Amino acid sequence: MRIGAIEAGGTKFICGIGNEEGEILDRISFPTDIPEPTLEQVVAYFRDKDIEAIGVGSFGPIDLDRSSLTYGQVTTTPKPGWSGFDFVGFMKRNFPVPIGFDTDVNAAVFGEAMWGAAKGLDSCVYYTIGTGVGVGVFAEGNLIHGLVHPEGGHVLTRRHPEDPFEGFCPYHGDCLEGMASGPAIEKRWGLKGSELPEDHLAWEMEGFYLAQAISGVILLLSPKKVILGGGVMHQKQLYPLIRKKVAKFLNGYVASPAILDDLENYIVSPGLGDNAGLCGALALGIEASSSKAGIHYGGLKFDD
Ligand code: ADP
Ligand code: ZN
Repeated sequence: MRIGAIEAGGTKFICGIGNEEGEILDRISFPTDIPEPTLEQVVAYFRDKDIEAIGVGSFGPIDLDRSSLTYGQVTTTPKPGWSGFDFVGFMKRNFPVPIGFDTDVNAAVFGEAMWGAAKGLDSCVYYTIGTGVGVGVFAEGNLIHGLVHPEGGHVLTRRHPEDPFEGFCPYHGDCLEGMASGPAIEKRWGLKGSELPEDHLAWEMEGFYLAQAISGVILLLSPKKVILGGGVMHQKQLYPLIRKKVAKFLNGYVASPAILDDLENYIVSPGLGDNAGLCGALALGIEASSSKAGIHYGGLKFDD
């Protein structure tokens, strides 16, 4: 089976071809422009590729309510041309195959549950900490959408005692994304995260904000694994820092050996590395093709 996969990011699009084993056989990448020229490149890439389905993990916010008149559209993005763009409609008009469509972070969490760090588990959450902060949720074998879809990057946080930074989120100021995204780090310190030394106070603060959000998600959803990806998490010293702070914030309250004794295997980097997004889109494509045929892939039960 040859399945198309699209990681539709706010800065770049990655398109690829993969198979049921989660192997990516071919890929290309190009910058995200306004919709039409961007998607013309998508059409050109997949034309003649003989694919049976396509999965799309998209930047958002997007409308995922199948009963909504605007299902499949990008909604409130400030990205020029994309607000109100009918992404799924465009894909359907151009490709007569099943189309899987979800958020970029739901795609990533799905890929990780199929083939990555949460393989075999029926629940996990995936955080990306990059240009923005996003959270994908896989719970009891399903991707979670709820009313819209989770927007866990915008939860409010308690301020670090030594942090006067006002925050960088246009909607909330000092929400998690406003305090802990890559651009927030750059704005606060006047240097990109990649330019700050490993022992800089920036990382203590970063760990403090991320550990708060992760402690909250553990209390709220009780996931079996927490996966942290995105550009900022290339700072590997953040993982032990975050684990230590999560242990401190939870203070022994959540009585699971995974949290009390084994945080190293509980809060982890993506098993698929920087491929989590594209593999996740591939998983969405496989799911779209198999649910159309009445099959629930991998023994898991997914929303149709
Ligand atoms: P995007 O979120 O746009 O898909 P990334 O996940 O690569 O892309 O995130 C980009 C952000 O991550 C930028 O703000 C960048 O400064 C930050 N970043 C990238 N590499 C590093 C690094 N090694 N250390 C700290 N921050 C980094
Ligand atoms: Zn916000």
